[in-house]
Amino acid sequence: MKIEAGVASDIGRVREGNEDSYLIEPPLYAVADGMGGHRGGEVASQLALETVERLFHEGRGTLTEQIREANRAVFSRSAADRKVTGMGTTLTAAMIQDDVAHLAHVGDSRAYLLRAGAFRQLTEDHTLVGKMVKAGEITPAEADVHPHRNVVTRALGTEPDLEVDELDLGLLEGDRILLCSDGLTNMVTEEQIQAILTSTPDPQDAADRLVRAANRAGGLDNITVVVLDVAEGDSERNGVPPTVALASAGATSRTGPSAREGARPLRRLVRPLIALAVVVVVLVAAFTAFRAWLDGRWYVGVADGHVTIYQGIPAEVLGYHLSHVVVETNLPASEAEAFPSHAGLVEGVNADSREGAQAIVDQIRQDLRRQRRAAKGAP
Ligand code: MG
Repeated sequence: MKIEAGVASDIGRVREGNEDSYLIEPPLYAVADGMGGHRGGEVASQLALETVERLFHEGRGTLTEQIREANRAVFSRSAADRKVTGMGTTLTAAMIQDDVAHLAHVGDSRAYLLRAGAFRQLTEDHTLVGKMVKAGEITPAEADVHPHRNVVTRALGTEPDLEVDELDLGLLEGDRILLCSDGLTNMVTEEQIQAILTSTPDPQDAADRLVRAANRAGGLDNITVVVLDVAEGDSERNGVPPTVALASAGATSRTGPSAREGARPLRRLVRPLIALAVVVVVLVAAFTAFRAWLDGRWYVGVADGHVTIYQGIPAEVLGYHLSHVVVETNLPASEAEAFPSHAGLVEGVNADSREGAQAIVDQIRQDLRRQRRAAKGAP
């Protein structure tokens, strides 16, 4: 059997740091989700995987024994260093020998198997709600939304001795194994995970898509996924370098490590500022355009009983007049309004331009003069 691996780890959209770690050391693969304070989680998940890796290289013990030794290492460090007191970590590992995957597991990270289109969880969550589901106290659906769904009942580093779940899985060509932290499974449904795994042949693409899906769903936690494809061939390293790739060390993906972690808090600040700037620019532009349009409007109305030329429109918004007086004539508005053709003065008679407004005023002046002359000339 040949294993092709894809891996991605991301800080998510909310957390300050990535406390997940992963190990790609063919034929050994693992994810660990650290917990316990700002620094503790990072230290716990790294220390656990480094310990397992070292023992694996030294050929000491079974995978389970290596994990129990890692537990002691995290526990001792937690007791010795006040800065990381109380830290712990999950650990879900797969060691592949010939056509068998030896799985070892502690905590609420998970291993899944996609085989011939069927998708199932291989590990059991060591959580409070997991126990309650097992005891028939709540349903799996209730567990998904339970307020204490993140309470882990078993983790490396919290007790001097540790029980490790073990499972040996006979592998078939075409099998796909997923190891992941709860940052994936709390954000993305199993149906969605299965759909992505089924529709994405390349394991690295699949890992990247799963992380993107978790981030699109909110990315409330660190997200780490390892996708292992079982293919025909011998179990060489497939060009995967023998490295412990620790997500906490700053890499976000084995294929694309970047400085995203450091950039994230800054980006969180910059995004709202850009949004605010855009809103301000749009409002200023809208206001400026409106003012320009307003300045091109003219009308003839009434001020202090006189026929008056205004710039703007005869209206007000929230007490703000959308016009101002340009010329107040000495023509009495009441006399002008007596002419049917000038009856709209009180509401304002619109004009295309200042000249147009002046022409209306001139017309009123002529009409009034003619009327006065007619009145004088009358017997
Ligand atoms: Mg987590």
